[in-house]
Amino acid sequence: MTLCYICGWNFKEYYSGGDICSCCGSEYDFDDCLEKKEILEKYCGNDREKLHIMAPELDDAKDEKNVACDIAWRFIRLKWVKKGCPFKWAKEEKIEHWTIEDAKKQLKTIRYDYDTLLPLANKIING
Ligand SMILES: [Zn+2]
Repeated sequence: MTLCYICGWNFKEYYSGGDICSCCGSEYDFDDCLEKKEILEKYCGNDREKLHIMAPELDDAKDEKNVACDIAWRFIRLKWVKKGCPFKWAKEEKIEHWTIEDAKKQLKTIRYDYDTLLPLANKIING
């Protein structure tokens, strides 16, 4: 797999732990190591109802347990969408006119639909 699980950016080569995505800026094996209680605090403002809407799988999980990567990626992706899908290191990658339309296409490559993500993304707290 060479596509970023979070934003769909094509790394063009295989990536692994410690690699950082130029597009969404996520560091694998670091940003995606999240405990349920961190997600509650940083993404849901300690609102368990919100957490349930975004990740019903976590209802019965212990607060201090690390969540599965795909769930962590979901929250990181939603935050990225909430921020307007910015391209973090566009200069390095010589990306000149990155638009939300490009982000939408890129998300499609990993089977995510921007318009479906957006209402959930808007529930993510700021900060
Ligand atoms: Zn990415």
